Amino acid sequence: MVTAAAYAVTSADSRFEKTTVQRRELGPLDVLIEIKFAGICHSDIHTARNEWGSTHYPVVPGHEIAGVVSAVGSEVTKHRVGDRVGVGCFVDSCGECDACRADEEQYCVNRATGTYNATGRDGEWTQGGYSTHIVVTEHFVLSIPDGLELDVAAPLLCAGITLYSPLAHWGAGPGKKVAVIGMGGLGHVGVKIAHAMGADVTVLSQSLGKKDDGLKFGAGHYYATSDPGTFAQLRGQFDLIVNTVSVNLDIDAYMSMLAINGTLVELGLPEKPIEVRAFSLAANRRSLAGSMVGGIAQTQEMLNFCAEHGIGAEIEVISADQIDGAYDRVVGSDVRYRFVIDTATI
Ligand SMILES: [Zn+2]
Ligand SMILES: [Zn+2]
Repeated sequence: MVTAAAYAVTSADSRFEKTTVQRRELGPLDVLIEIKFAGICHSDIHTARNEWGSTHYPVVPGHEIAGVVSAVGSEVTKHRVGDRVGVGCFVDSCGECDACRADEEQYCVNRATGTYNATGRDGEWTQGGYSTHIVVTEHFVLSIPDGLELDVAAPLLCAGITLYSPLAHWGAGPGKKVAVIGMGGLGHVGVKIAHAMGADVTVLSQSLGKKDDGLKFGAGHYYATSDPGTFAQLRGQFDLIVNTVSVNLDIDAYMSMLAINGTLVELGLPEKPIEVRAFSLAANRRSLAGSMVGGIAQTQEMLNFCAEHGIGAEIEVISADQIDGAYDRVVGSDVRYRFVIDTATI
Protein backbone atom coordinates (compact mmCIF):
# COMPACT_ATOMS: atom_id res chain seq x y z
CA MET A 1 0.00 0.00 0.00
CA VAL A 2 1.04 3.56 -0.63
CA THR A 3 -0.01 6.18 1.89
CA ALA A 4 -0.81 9.36 0.00
CA ALA A 5 -1.47 12.78 1.46
CA ALA A 6 -4.81 14.20 0.37
CA TYR A 7 -7.43 16.87 0.98
CA ALA A 8 -10.87 15.53 1.89
CA VAL A 9 -14.22 16.67 3.19
CA THR A 10 -16.00 14.63 5.85
CA SER A 11 -19.53 16.01 5.38
CA ALA A 12 -21.58 18.18 3.05
CA ASP A 13 -20.84 21.33 5.02
CA SER A 14 -17.33 20.67 6.32
CA ARG A 15 -14.25 22.40 5.02
CA PHE A 16 -11.41 20.60 3.28
CA GLU A 17 -8.85 19.12 5.64
CA LYS A 18 -5.54 17.44 5.11
CA THR A 19 -5.64 13.69 5.57
CA THR A 20 -4.14 10.52 4.12
CA VAL A 21 -5.57 7.86 1.83
CA GLN A 22 -4.30 4.35 1.17
CA ARG A 23 -3.63 3.59 -2.48
CA ARG A 24 -3.72 -0.08 -3.34
CA GLU A 25 -0.65 -2.25 -3.71
CA LEU A 26 0.55 -2.17 -7.33
CA GLY A 27 -1.02 -5.02 -9.30
CA PRO A 28 0.65 -6.30 -12.48
CA LEU A 29 -1.23 -3.78 -14.67
CA ASP A 30 -1.20 -0.85 -12.25
CA VAL A 31 0.59 2.47 -12.54
CA LEU A 32 1.58 4.60 -9.54
CA ILE A 33 1.35 8.26 -10.40
CA GLU A 34 2.87 11.14 -8.48
CA ILE A 35 0.19 13.77 -8.98
CA LYS A 36 1.47 17.25 -9.82
CA PHE A 37 -1.75 19.14 -10.58
CA ALA A 38 -5.46 18.52 -10.10
CA GLY A 39 -8.14 20.68 -11.71
CA ILE A 40 -11.31 21.68 -9.89
CA CYS A 41 -14.40 20.62 -11.81
CA HIS A 42 -17.95 21.65 -10.89
CA SER A 43 -18.73 17.95 -10.37
CA ASP A 44 -16.19 17.97 -7.52
CA ILE A 45 -18.25 20.66 -5.81
CA HIS A 46 -21.57 18.86 -6.37
CA THR A 47 -20.02 15.74 -4.84
CA ALA A 48 -18.19 17.38 -1.92
CA ARG A 49 -21.40 19.22 -0.96
CA ASN A 50 -23.59 16.15 -1.61
CA GLU A 51 -25.73 18.09 -4.09
CA TRP A 52 -26.40 14.90 -6.04
CA GLY A 53 -27.28 13.05 -2.83
CA SER A 54 -24.90 10.16 -3.39
CA THR A 55 -21.70 11.16 -1.64
CA HIS A 56 -19.84 8.72 0.57
CA TYR A 57 -17.64 10.53 3.12
CA PRO A 58 -14.83 11.17 3.56
CA VAL A 59 -14.34 12.01 -0.11
CA VAL A 60 -11.26 13.24 -1.97
CA PRO A 61 -12.55 14.80 -5.22
CA GLY A 62 -10.52 15.47 -8.35
CA HIS A 63 -10.78 13.92 -11.81
CA GLU A 64 -8.57 16.26 -13.77
CA ILE A 65 -5.25 14.74 -12.82
CA ALA A 66 -1.81 15.37 -14.32
CA GLY A 67 1.41 13.89 -12.99
CA VAL A 68 4.41 11.67 -13.52
CA VAL A 69 4.68 7.88 -13.34
CA SER A 70 6.72 6.83 -10.32
CA ALA A 71 6.30 3.02 -10.47
CA VAL A 72 4.67 0.42 -12.72
CA GLY A 73 3.41 -3.12 -12.22
CA SER A 74 5.24 -6.12 -13.68
CA GLU A 75 3.05 -6.39 -16.82
CA VAL A 76 2.61 -2.72 -17.66
CA THR A 77 3.63 -1.91 -21.24
CA LYS A 78 1.84 1.37 -21.95
CA HIS A 79 3.71 3.62 -19.51
CA ARG A 80 7.19 3.88 -18.00
CA VAL A 81 8.60 5.49 -14.89
CA GLY A 82 9.07 9.20 -15.60
CA ASP A 83 6.31 9.43 -18.22
CA ARG A 84 4.01 12.45 -18.04
CA VAL A 85 0.49 11.15 -17.66
CA GLY A 86 -3.09 12.07 -16.87
CA VAL A 87 -6.21 10.53 -15.40
CA GLY A 88 -9.75 11.70 -16.11
CA CYS A 89 -13.24 10.92 -14.87
CA PHE A 90 -13.07 7.14 -14.65
CA VAL A 91 -10.44 4.59 -13.65
CA ASP A 92 -11.98 1.26 -14.63
CA SER A 93 -14.73 -0.39 -16.66
CA CYS A 94 -15.80 -3.95 -17.44
CA GLY A 95 -13.78 -4.10 -20.67
CA GLU A 96 -16.18 -6.63 -22.18
CA CYS A 97 -19.47 -4.94 -23.03
CA ASP A 98 -20.28 -3.43 -26.42
CA ALA A 99 -19.47 0.08 -25.19
CA CYS A 100 -16.07 -0.94 -23.81
CA ARG A 101 -15.25 -2.88 -26.97
CA ALA A 102 -16.13 0.21 -29.00
CA ASP A 103 -13.70 2.36 -26.95
CA GLU A 104 -16.63 4.13 -25.30
CA GLU A 105 -15.80 3.08 -21.74
CA GLN A 106 -17.68 6.08 -20.36
CA TYR A 107 -20.89 4.35 -21.49
CA CYS A 108 -19.94 0.91 -20.10
CA VAL A 109 -23.22 -1.00 -19.53
CA ASN A 110 -21.76 -2.27 -16.26
CA ARG A 111 -20.85 1.31 -15.33
CA ALA A 112 -17.38 2.74 -15.55
CA THR A 113 -15.78 3.27 -12.14
CA GLY A 114 -15.61 6.96 -11.24
CA THR A 115 -12.25 8.36 -10.20
CA TYR A 116 -13.78 9.29 -6.83
CA ASN A 117 -16.94 8.48 -4.87
CA ALA A 118 -17.34 5.12 -6.64
CA THR A 119 -16.79 1.54 -5.57
CA GLY A 120 -13.76 -0.02 -7.19
CA ARG A 121 -13.47 -3.67 -8.18
CA ASP A 122 -11.70 -4.29 -4.88
CA GLY A 123 -14.81 -3.07 -3.06
CA GLU A 124 -13.05 0.04 -1.74
CA TRP A 125 -14.27 3.59 -2.36
CA THR A 126 -12.23 5.40 -4.98
CA GLN A 127 -10.54 8.66 -3.95
CA GLY A 128 -9.55 11.30 -6.48
CA GLY A 129 -6.82 13.69 -7.42
CA TYR A 130 -6.61 16.22 -4.58
CA SER A 131 -3.77 14.02 -3.43
CA THR A 132 -0.09 13.35 -3.88
CA HIS A 133 -0.38 9.88 -5.44
CA ILE A 134 -2.90 7.61 -7.15
CA VAL A 135 -2.82 4.04 -8.46
CA VAL A 136 -4.68 3.41 -11.72
CA THR A 137 -4.71 0.45 -14.09
CA GLU A 138 -2.66 1.29 -17.18
CA HIS A 139 -5.50 1.33 -19.72
CA PHE A 140 -7.09 4.32 -17.95
CA VAL A 141 -3.87 6.32 -17.75
CA LEU A 142 -3.39 8.83 -20.58
CA SER A 143 -0.11 10.05 -22.01
CA ILE A 144 0.39 13.81 -21.89
CA PRO A 145 2.38 14.77 -24.98
CA ASP A 146 5.52 16.87 -24.78
CA GLY A 147 4.69 20.49 -25.41
CA LEU A 148 1.63 20.39 -23.17
CA GLU A 149 2.46 21.67 -19.68
CA LEU A 150 1.00 19.55 -16.90
CA ASP A 151 -0.85 22.42 -15.20
CA VAL A 152 -2.79 23.51 -18.30
CA ALA A 153 -3.27 19.89 -19.37
CA ALA A 154 -5.01 18.82 -16.14
CA PRO A 155 -8.39 20.43 -16.94
CA LEU A 156 -8.37 18.85 -20.38
CA LEU A 157 -8.92 15.45 -18.73
CA CYS A 158 -12.53 16.39 -17.95
CA ALA A 159 -13.40 19.81 -19.42
CA GLY A 160 -11.35 19.20 -22.57
CA ILE A 161 -12.78 15.80 -23.47
CA THR A 162 -16.30 16.86 -22.49
CA LEU A 163 -16.12 19.38 -25.33
CA TYR A 164 -13.86 17.54 -27.77
CA SER A 165 -16.04 14.43 -27.91
CA PRO A 166 -19.29 16.07 -29.08
CA LEU A 167 -17.43 18.49 -31.36
CA ALA A 168 -15.74 15.52 -33.05
CA HIS A 169 -18.88 13.35 -33.05
CA TRP A 170 -21.07 16.00 -34.67
CA GLY A 171 -18.39 16.99 -37.16
CA ALA A 172 -17.25 20.46 -36.09
CA GLY A 173 -14.84 21.52 -38.82
CA PRO A 174 -14.39 23.73 -41.87
CA GLY A 175 -17.70 25.01 -43.22
CA LYS A 176 -19.54 24.29 -39.98
CA LYS A 177 -21.07 26.95 -37.77
CA VAL A 178 -20.71 26.03 -34.12
CA ALA A 179 -22.08 27.93 -31.13
CA VAL A 180 -20.86 27.47 -27.58
CA ILE A 181 -23.28 28.47 -24.82
CA GLY A 182 -21.36 29.70 -21.77
CA MET A 183 -17.77 30.92 -21.46
CA GLY A 184 -16.72 29.14 -18.28
CA GLY A 185 -14.39 26.24 -17.52
CA LEU A 186 -15.99 24.07 -20.18
CA GLY A 187 -16.96 26.72 -22.71
CA HIS A 188 -13.59 28.41 -23.05
CA VAL A 189 -11.92 25.09 -23.90
CA GLY A 190 -14.73 24.36 -26.36
CA VAL A 191 -14.09 27.63 -28.17
CA LYS A 192 -10.39 26.82 -28.52
CA ILE A 193 -10.99 23.26 -29.72
CA ALA A 194 -13.82 24.07 -32.15
CA HIS A 195 -11.72 26.88 -33.64
CA ALA A 196 -8.71 24.55 -34.01
CA MET A 197 -10.98 22.02 -35.75
CA GLY A 198 -11.67 24.71 -38.35
CA ALA A 199 -15.26 25.57 -37.43
CA ASP A 200 -16.71 29.08 -37.46
CA VAL A 201 -17.25 29.61 -33.73
CA THR A 202 -19.78 31.82 -31.98
CA VAL A 203 -19.99 32.34 -28.22
CA LEU A 204 -23.43 32.80 -26.68
CA SER A 205 -22.79 34.26 -23.24
CA GLN A 206 -25.07 36.05 -20.84
CA SER A 207 -23.12 39.27 -21.20
CA LEU A 208 -20.28 40.64 -23.30
CA GLY A 209 -18.00 40.65 -20.22
CA LYS A 210 -15.64 38.00 -21.58
CA LYS A 211 -15.87 39.01 -25.23
CA ASP A 212 -12.19 39.96 -25.60
CA ASP A 213 -11.15 36.58 -24.19
CA GLY A 214 -13.60 34.71 -26.41
CA LEU A 215 -12.26 36.34 -29.56
CA LYS A 216 -8.69 35.69 -28.38
CA PHE A 217 -9.51 31.99 -27.86
CA GLY A 218 -10.71 31.73 -31.45
CA ALA A 219 -14.37 32.74 -31.58
CA GLY A 220 -15.32 34.71 -34.66
CA HIS A 221 -18.47 36.11 -33.08
CA TYR A 222 -19.72 36.83 -29.58
CA TYR A 223 -23.28 37.60 -28.56
CA ALA A 224 -25.02 38.44 -25.30
CA THR A 225 -28.03 36.21 -24.66
CA SER A 226 -29.41 38.85 -22.27
CA ASP A 227 -30.18 40.83 -25.46
CA PRO A 228 -33.41 39.38 -26.95
CA GLY A 229 -32.32 40.64 -30.37
CA THR A 230 -29.59 37.98 -30.38
CA PHE A 231 -32.10 35.16 -30.83
CA ALA A 232 -33.89 36.87 -33.71
CA GLN A 233 -30.62 37.78 -35.39
CA LEU A 234 -29.18 34.24 -35.23
CA ARG A 235 -32.34 32.32 -36.17
CA GLY A 236 -31.57 29.13 -38.13
CA GLN A 237 -27.83 29.80 -38.18
CA PHE A 238 -25.95 26.98 -36.49
CA ASP A 239 -25.12 23.41 -37.45
CA LEU A 240 -24.17 22.59 -33.88
CA ILE A 241 -24.77 24.23 -30.51
CA VAL A 242 -23.04 22.88 -27.40
CA ASN A 243 -24.58 23.97 -24.12
CA THR A 244 -22.06 24.06 -21.27
CA VAL A 245 -24.35 25.82 -18.81
CA SER A 246 -25.76 23.78 -15.93
CA VAL A 247 -28.89 25.84 -15.37
CA ASN A 248 -32.30 25.41 -16.98
CA LEU A 249 -32.31 27.65 -20.06
CA ASP A 250 -35.14 28.40 -22.48
CA ILE A 251 -34.08 25.55 -24.76
CA ASP A 252 -36.72 26.37 -27.39
CA ALA A 253 -35.14 29.78 -27.86
CA TYR A 254 -31.73 28.21 -28.39
CA MET A 255 -33.11 25.47 -30.66
CA SER A 256 -34.53 28.19 -32.91
CA MET A 257 -30.95 29.14 -33.77
CA LEU A 258 -30.26 25.72 -35.33
CA ALA A 259 -30.10 25.31 -39.10
CA ILE A 260 -31.67 22.35 -40.96
CA ASN A 261 -30.44 19.08 -39.38
CA GLY A 262 -28.82 21.06 -36.61
CA THR A 263 -28.12 19.54 -33.21
CA LEU A 264 -28.07 21.06 -29.75
CA VAL A 265 -25.92 19.02 -27.36
CA GLU A 266 -26.53 19.29 -23.63
CA LEU A 267 -23.30 19.07 -21.62
CA GLY A 268 -24.45 20.81 -18.47
CA LEU A 269 -26.53 18.90 -15.96
CA PRO A 270 -29.33 21.24 -14.85
CA GLU A 271 -31.29 20.33 -11.78
CA LYS A 272 -34.72 20.12 -13.44
CA PRO A 273 -35.77 18.18 -16.57
CA ILE A 274 -35.20 19.93 -19.88
CA GLU A 275 -38.42 21.18 -21.45
CA VAL A 276 -38.61 21.47 -25.21
CA ARG A 277 -41.52 21.90 -27.60
CA ALA A 278 -41.97 19.22 -30.24
CA PHE A 279 -42.19 22.00 -32.80
CA SER A 280 -38.63 23.10 -31.96
CA LEU A 281 -37.48 19.64 -33.05
CA ALA A 282 -39.79 19.28 -36.05
CA ALA A 283 -38.88 22.62 -37.54
CA ASN A 284 -35.60 22.22 -39.44
CA ARG A 285 -35.49 18.50 -38.47
CA ARG A 286 -33.47 19.40 -35.39
CA SER A 287 -32.00 17.11 -32.74
CA LEU A 288 -31.53 17.55 -29.03
CA ALA A 289 -28.71 15.34 -27.76
CA GLY A 290 -26.40 14.74 -24.84
CA SER A 291 -22.80 13.63 -24.41
CA MET A 292 -20.68 12.58 -21.45
CA VAL A 293 -16.89 12.96 -21.48
CA GLY A 294 -15.24 10.51 -23.92
CA GLY A 295 -13.56 7.11 -24.13
CA ILE A 296 -9.90 6.53 -23.36
CA ALA A 297 -8.86 6.37 -27.03
CA GLN A 298 -10.65 9.60 -27.83
CA THR A 299 -9.26 11.27 -24.71
CA GLN A 300 -5.75 10.43 -25.94
CA GLU A 301 -6.70 11.77 -29.39
CA MET A 302 -7.89 14.99 -27.70
CA LEU A 303 -4.63 15.40 -25.75
CA ASN A 304 -2.61 14.86 -28.92
CA PHE A 305 -4.82 17.35 -30.79
CA CYS A 306 -4.43 19.95 -28.04
CA ALA A 307 -0.64 19.52 -27.97
CA GLU A 308 -0.49 19.85 -31.75
CA HIS A 309 -2.58 23.03 -31.70
CA GLY A 310 -1.05 24.57 -28.56
CA ILE A 311 -4.30 24.34 -26.63
CA GLY A 312 -4.33 24.32 -22.84
CA ALA A 313 -6.91 25.45 -20.34
CA GLU A 314 -6.71 28.98 -18.95
CA ILE A 315 -5.94 28.38 -15.32
CA GLU A 316 -5.46 29.92 -11.90
CA VAL A 317 -3.11 27.76 -9.82
CA ILE A 318 -3.96 27.55 -6.12
CA SER A 319 -2.54 25.81 -3.08
CA ALA A 320 -4.48 23.02 -1.39
CA ASP A 321 -5.50 25.21 1.56
CA GLN A 322 -7.39 27.47 -0.86
CA ILE A 323 -9.84 24.83 -2.13
CA ASP A 324 -12.83 26.02 -0.09
CA GLY A 325 -12.47 29.58 -1.33
CA ALA A 326 -11.98 28.36 -4.88
CA TYR A 327 -15.24 26.37 -4.67
CA ASP A 328 -17.13 29.50 -3.65
CA ARG A 329 -15.62 31.39 -6.54
CA VAL A 330 -16.52 28.65 -9.05
CA VAL A 331 -20.12 28.71 -7.82
CA GLY A 332 -20.08 32.48 -8.21
CA SER A 333 -18.62 32.18 -11.77
CA ASP A 334 -15.61 34.14 -10.54
CA VAL A 335 -12.75 32.28 -12.21
CA ARG A 336 -10.96 32.66 -15.53
CA TYR A 337 -11.30 29.84 -16.31
CA ARG A 338 -10.30 26.80 -14.26
CA PHE A 339 -8.72 26.40 -10.83
CA VAL A 340 -5.83 23.93 -10.65
CA ILE A 341 -4.42 22.72 -7.36
CA ASP A 342 -0.63 22.52 -7.11
CA THR A 343 -0.39 19.22 -5.25
CA ALA A 344 3.10 20.06 -3.99
CA THR A 345 1.21 22.15 -1.42
CA ILE A 346 -0.69 19.15 -0.01
ZN1 LIG B 1 -15.44 16.96 -14.34
ZN1 LIG C 1 -18.13 -2.25 -20.19
